[in-house]
Parts: sequence; C-alpha cells; structure tokens
Amino acid sequence: MNDLLQNLIKLQAIEFGQIKEKNAAATVAELRSKIPPQILAHYDRLVAKGKKGVAAVRNQVCTGCHMHVPIGVITTLMHDTDIQLCDSCGRYLYLSEAADTKAPEETAKPNPKPARKARKPKNSSQLVSASVSMMPLAVNELGLGKGQPGLRPISG
Ligand SMILES: [Zn+2]
Repeated sequence: MNDLLQNLIKLQAIEFGQIKEKNAAATVAELRSKIPPQILAHYDRLVAKGKKGVAAVRNQVCTGCHMHVPIGVITTLMHDTDIQLCDSCGRYLYLSEAADTKAPEETAKPNPKPARKARKPKNSSQLVSASVSMMPLAVNELGLGKGQPGLRPISG
C-alpha cells in the first residue's frame, strides 16, 4: 500500500478514535502535512458530512457503501500505482487485507493464472528392461547330473 493511503487510513483512525495516540494532535498535524491538499480537502468534505473518508474494499465491495468495485480499480490498488475513489460514495479506497485484523480468509485476489497440475507420465523404460533381462539359461543341461554319487549301503 502506498504511503498516501496509509497516511489517510491512519489519520482517519486517529480522528475517529479507532487508535489511540499519545500525542494525537501532533500526529494528525504531521499526517495532514504529508497528504496532498486536494486529497485532504476531499477527505475532509466526506468527514464533514459525517462519513468516513477512506473505505476498505472487501470481496470486491466497497465497505463504505456496499457497492461493487470494478476489478480495474482493485487491480490499480493492488499495484499501488494510484489512489482510487469509490464511484458510488466517493471515499478513498484501500484493500482491506493490510488494515484488517481479522484472518484474511476471503481476500478477493483474482488469479491471473489458475495453477494447473501437469502430471508427467511415469517412465516406461522399466518394462523394456525387464523383458531384455530374460536371457536363455540352458546351461544347466550340460555337465550336471552325470556322476551323481549314490549312497551305497556299506556292508561290513
Ligand atoms: Zn463506496
């Protein structure tokens, strides 16, 4: 997430009392000094209406107004290339996974490439070598069984 969004989120969290800072006023002033005036003005307009200026995107839905967020907007957020506004409620959008303390069980990440399991066929050379090793074994017929010493009873 880019710094601008992080500053906005932190600013909002402090101003809405979601996190406690030791020196909240100083932190707010510092954050506000880092955020570009135009963005800050838009944020303040929303806050003045009693809304939050920044809303998380969860499951491709803006948590501020519960409207669907276009995938292009989410992609931009994922790539951190630009900040995005919700088309419906005008809040600044951020992806919820970083700021959400809950387990990221349903982070809607579009898979560009579905992982496909490519199975290689097993090596079939074993079958071939087995038939080759069957060599003709006719050696036994020669030389053996000629002079078998029979057991003679010894008479004394
Ligand atoms: Zn919205």
